[in-house]
Amino acid sequence: MTAKKSKKLPRAATWYEMEGTFKFRNKFCPKCGSVMAFHREPTPRWHCGKCGFTQFQR
Ligand SMILES: [Zn+2]
Repeated sequence: MTAKKSKKLPRAATWYEMEGTFKFRNKFCPKCGSVMAFHREPTPRWHCGKCGFTQFQR
C-alpha cells in the first residue's frame, strides 16, 4: 500500500469504494460456466454473452 501524494481520503470514502468492489461479484453461467454480465435495464438480469442464458433478478 503506497500513500498517494494528495491528502488522505475520509474514512467513509474509502469504505464506500471497498464495499462497491466487494458487492459487485460476477456470477457464473450455470450452462457454460463463463462469467455473466449484469444488466439493469429494462429489467435487472444476469446475461451470459457466450450461450445467451439469462437469469432474472427478483
Ligand atoms: Zn453461458
